[in-house]
Amino acid sequence: MQKRGKQLFPSKKIDSFENMLMLNSPIKFKPTVQVFYQPNKIFIRSNGYFITIPDDNGVFKATFELLDGQHTVKAISEKLITQFPEASEENLTDVICDLDEQYLLEKSDTAPSKILTDYDLERWHRNLDFFNSYCRLSDNKYGAQAKIKQARILLLGLGGLGSHILYDLVALGATDIRAVDFDKIDLTNLNRQILYGEDNIGQLKTEAAEQRIKQFCSQLDVDFINHRISGAADIERLLEGREIVICVADKPKEHILNWLNEACTKQGIPFINGGLDTQRAVYCSVIPGQSGCIHCWKTCVEAKSGDSANLLQAESAADAAESQPAPAIVPLVSAITSFVVAEFVRIVTNIAKPVATNKLLSVDFDTMQVKPAEVWQRQIDCDYCGKGTHDAY
Ligand SMILES: [Zn+2]
Repeated sequence: MQKRGKQLFPSKKIDSFENMLMLNSPIKFKPTVQVFYQPNKIFIRSNGYFITIPDDNGVFKATFELLDGQHTVKAISEKLITQFPEASEENLTDVICDLDEQYLLEKSDTAPSKILTDYDLERWHRNLDFFNSYCRLSDNKYGAQAKIKQARILLLGLGGLGSHILYDLVALGATDIRAVDFDKIDLTNLNRQILYGEDNIGQLKTEAAEQRIKQFCSQLDVDFINHRISGAADIERLLEGREIVICVADKPKEHILNWLNEACTKQGIPFINGGLDTQRAVYCSVIPGQSGCIHCWKTCVEAKSGDSANLLQAESAADAAESQPAPAIVPLVSAITSFVVAEFVRIVTNIAKPVATNKLLSVDFDTMQVKPAEVWQRQIDCDYCGKGTHDAY
């Protein structure tokens, strides 16, 4: 997909005149596009912005009225030529190209992906409209939802963040999830872990999560594993058959990120990591072969500041004791899980580029604004992800 244009009628056309004329499908405005006709001008509202189009001779109005899902580009062009003989076929087709560059049009005969069932098309109807807003005429509007349905996900942690993320992933339409946790539910979890209830106190999180999520969606292929992660080799075993990881496990916090990085860079599997840090929440993503990894981050920190490096070492030692208090409040949990799941959507569907590679993004409670707390670069000689020569993201 192309980057969204800023002007309605930029001089450089992305799709050629010839390609447009060869498009055999009838086309129309997307259902989310609103068109308002005024004397000598037209307003179009879509994706939160307005476009005003001067239309003194009525050629745009005549064109737009033919975008009814019944006409191909060629048929529209032929009809308009008879009505506006002074216009060339190329001029008229350019109007269609411009509308397509603004993501305003869709084909009216696109067959749904065979991956999506009638149930999927109904349950994720609003997702489909959302993903369609990213589509040009050359894209399949069902493609992104199909990718989410088929994504083979490993979710590490079903606590504060993980229980929210599981809900969000299934609400998105993900069906193939392996989720791992070793903990039991206690009353202190219920200030933020809304997947669970008072009846679940004392139960394993994996058991309660499976029970609850299958009530929310019956069309799942889920695998809940009660297991305490103990090393990179352990994560490698859990990665079998997986293609993306979301890690929000916090025990042991510093070690688990290193283990995750080692396992995922070795197998070339992207991961997103998120967590809470008292008054802020943080997340980052790593795409092996394209972005820097956690080891690259630490190398950059060591190069910049001895104090930061010492702090990382001290945190690592403290994690071993697992005795730190873990403040947590639900607005920060909800915020950071939304950012993590949005990053998941960007990576899996490719509708937009991931935003958290090569950086640790932080949202603080006082402002709820997102800022980079740490920034690093991919290290070409990195022991884990090395030999890259540039950052793709
Ligand atoms: Zn690296």
